[in-house]
Amino acid sequence: MKLSFEIVELQTKHAFNIARQVGPPSRRLVWVRVRDSDGVEGWGEASPQPFYGETADTVTAILPRLAEALEEAAGGDPFALERIDDAVHHALAHNGSARVAISAAMHDLVGKRLGVPVWKLWGLDPAAAPRSSFTIGIDELEVMRAKVREAAAYPILKIKVGTPRDREILSMIREEAPGKTIRVDANTGWSAKQTIAVMPMFQEFGVEFVEQPLPAHDLAGLRLVRENSPLPIIADESVENATDVAKLAGVVDGVNIKLSKCGSLREAIRIIHAARAHNMKVMLGCMIESTLGIAAAVQITPLVDYVDLDGAALLAHDPFAGPGIEADGTVRFNSEPGLGVRRRE
Ligand SMILES: [Mg+2]
Repeated sequence: MKLSFEIVELQTKHAFNIARQVGPPSRRLVWVRVRDSDGVEGWGEASPQPFYGETADTVTAILPRLAEALEEAAGGDPFALERIDDAVHHALAHNGSARVAISAAMHDLVGKRLGVPVWKLWGLDPAAAPRSSFTIGIDELEVMRAKVREAAAYPILKIKVGTPRDREILSMIREEAPGKTIRVDANTGWSAKQTIAVMPMFQEFGVEFVEQPLPAHDLAGLRLVRENSPLPIIADESVENATDVAKLAGVVDGVNIKLSKCGSLREAIRIIHAARAHNMKVMLGCMIESTLGIAAAVQITPLVDYVDLDGAALLAHDPFAGPGIEADGTVRFNSEPGLGVRRRE
């Protein structure tokens, strides 16, 4: 198994700001390729997040170590996906984006060897995939209005909140999109008291649910919010892997999975099963990613309740083509084997 990688620099269409940070205008992602002894190649992408201690440079620094773990675990058998997953995880517990690049590449490779898309390998039904939301980042009101108009075809909007202007922003959204489903994400921006205080306003604007209002580790605060909230609470920053789900049972109503956090497609499926065992909702989100990163998440969308995979739609130029999100939020699946992604010329 031969692993190679290169850094790809991507520009976003607009600045992408959230409650805790101003987004940089460009992102450095890492394109990972794994080639087996027959020359079959699988691709994956790392979208490193500084919030989780990763940059493109940390990813490229550790990939050789993960390549060794992969080689040792596979022992010439690319189908040993569980063993490979375990070995990569044991080589490095964190660094989810670096690990998921390998996980995605191995599933792509196995799908290509068998001649079937990964979603099909898992027996999933594309018709079961919910439509994706489109995210509106924090900006000047008129810039946000322009983004909402640009997203006219999307029936579901996710609005980044956690500013002193939230009421003004939501009023503008309702002016522009009176009938759309609206979800909000505070990205750890508030305290429990603040969250409980803004809930009636969200209810007034017909918000469907609130994502991660509190800091990741404030589980007592999240529980208090849930007990006093008329709207469902979905954890994002508070959940990285399946063991986190058990801690969040009774604390929140659902979890937002991101491949870059959990580090593997197989762990994402374990999170889904853990959440279902606790009767929790499941959302599948993403970072700013190209179609290569989004394609890996698309494969498991039939298993979740809410899809938020607009990462590639936020890019000015996407170096990859393949499955993803249509302009109306519908999930587009690949009929080609593996992840079904190709490099654009
Ligand atoms: Mg979020």
